[in-house]
Amino acid sequence: MNWEAAVRLVKQSKTPVITTHEMPDGDAIGAEVGLAEGLRSIGLNPVILNSHPLSPSNEFLSLDDEPVVFDPERHAKVLEAADLFIMVDANFWDRAGSVGEAMAALHKPSLCIDHHFPPADCATVNCASVEASSASELVFYFCEHLGAQRTGRSREAIYTGLLFDTGNFRFSNTSNRVHQIAATLIEEGIVAEQMYQKVFEHGTFERMKLFGMALSSLQIDCDGQLVWFLVTNEMFAESGAVPSDVEGFADMVRTIRGSKMVFMFRDTPDGVIKASLRSKTNDIDVQALAKKFGGGGHKRASGVTLQPPIFQAVETVLTEARKLLA
Ligand code: 5GP
Ligand code: MN
Repeated sequence: MNWEAAVRLVKQSKTPVITTHEMPDGDAIGAEVGLAEGLRSIGLNPVILNSHPLSPSNEFLSLDDEPVVFDPERHAKVLEAADLFIMVDANFWDRAGSVGEAMAALHKPSLCIDHHFPPADCATVNCASVEASSASELVFYFCEHLGAQRTGRSREAIYTGLLFDTGNFRFSNTSNRVHQIAATLIEEGIVAEQMYQKVFEHGTFERMKLFGMALSSLQIDCDGQLVWFLVTNEMFAESGAVPSDVEGFADMVRTIRGSKMVFMFRDTPDGVIKASLRSKTNDIDVQALAKKFGGGGHKRASGVTLQPPIFQAVETVLTEARKLLA
């Protein structure tokens, strides 16, 4: 990993702007906040600008209006004044939505710290590893190389990223390194139970109602190896839940015995259909499947954006998925 080049780049900077992927999750925000705190500890003045607001599993990491939701007019000057753009937990600028596209158009020095496939190659310096559990794990190492000091908030942020992307230390990316970092953070004061509650026990009544409706749409295919379900506009309206409430639904459905792939298809406020694809075995690569439809992510967890109607989107993805199981 070229940490030295990344350290040199960051040490030349005073006012970096940090961003991450659209609809940021616990790892995206964890990595951003962990990095921002680390950079502050060595005298930089970072700003975090995201295309979308926080979700319930990570809003406790916000402090003094950080992260800020990007507004092209209001923040044009912030981007102009920046001397470095840093993207975490995303491997293409357009994954960061409107702010990523604005950054790419300005051609400033940039750094990408990411763990998606294909390994990031979009920035001046790329610190990319598909072996890393999370972007937050990479930010932890980078902050060590920078000689940054950890704060209470940065410990919570990094721990949140580890917790979120490993599904509370359950998934195949739960490496010994993950446990070592978690142990360090716990030694320094993190309380595991409290963090679990903050990240995973934040759901509203409306969210659980939505999950019930989503489960009523559950279908199996390919002798039960393929399980899928829907979250439609009607379900959102009837339950009163918000779009980010679907976080974690696909992972709960993964617990079905004999399932090898789990898909969640959902309507979004933008009108497009989002599919979350999960694989339960190493021989099924949902990143390759997602790529067929212009999506991406990881071997075991990927996402795709498709055109409505939702039933057409389902049919398109299922047709390809059945080939993988045939
Ligand atoms: P989720 O299904 O939880 O939204 O996302 C699972 C993984 O796939 C995450 O790592 C996420 O960054 C990635 N992902 C989700 N949607 C998309 C997409 O539309 N395009 C790409 N390239 N990756 C996505
Ligand atoms: Mn991640």
